[in-house]
Amino acid sequence: MLAKSAMSDPRDFINFDEIDKDGPQSYSRTISVSPSELQRDEIVNVGPVAIKAAVQKGSRPGEYLVEGSASFTADLMCARCLEPYPFASSSTFHLRFHPRPEVPQRQEEEIEIAPDELDVEFYTGRQIPLRHLALEQIQLSIPMKPLCREDCLGLCPTCGTNRNREVCACVEAVADERWGALSEIRQAIKKRES
Ligand SMILES: [Zn+2]
Ligand SMILES: [Zn+2]
Repeated sequence: MLAKSAMSDPRDFINFDEIDKDGPQSYSRTISVSPSELQRDEIVNVGPVAIKAAVQKGSRPGEYLVEGSASFTADLMCARCLEPYPFASSSTFHLRFHPRPEVPQRQEEEIEIAPDELDVEFYTGRQIPLRHLALEQIQLSIPMKPLCREDCLGLCPTCGTNRNREVCACVEAVADERWGALSEIRQAIKKRES
């Protein structure tokens, strides 16, 4: 169990009050993350995230602009062959923080976000944990369907062999089915053309 004081290091937070008082601030932290925090089965392992953020006041009242970068490595499970493979990501991000509008829930749902406002995040507290930004960047960087390589052959649907490593006896039958399907399509096209 970490000591409470270690968990609330002020350098782990963007502090809007500090920016109001002292002007633009830069943050640079390395944040440890566990796969369980990310709640995605395809993440086997994730290394610490190096995150940098430069924060300044925006032109609108209560607005803060963040320019940042995040990099990390991870082990992801390939969606086709189910083998873990190494993944590395480096990304930059731009965010605008706006104070959360004080409207009843019913109306809040109807607020439309303009296309140029997709990078807007609403805040209530004036301290933003860098951890939140780091987790967000991981979620955005990891593909919905991670692949160990573009042309991963996946598992044989019949016997479960990893077809990147081995050729199984079922391969031909599966291939025949595919060609069968293709020739059906070709015949359908021919019919339509004639
Ligand atoms: Zn694969
Ligand atoms: Zn097989």
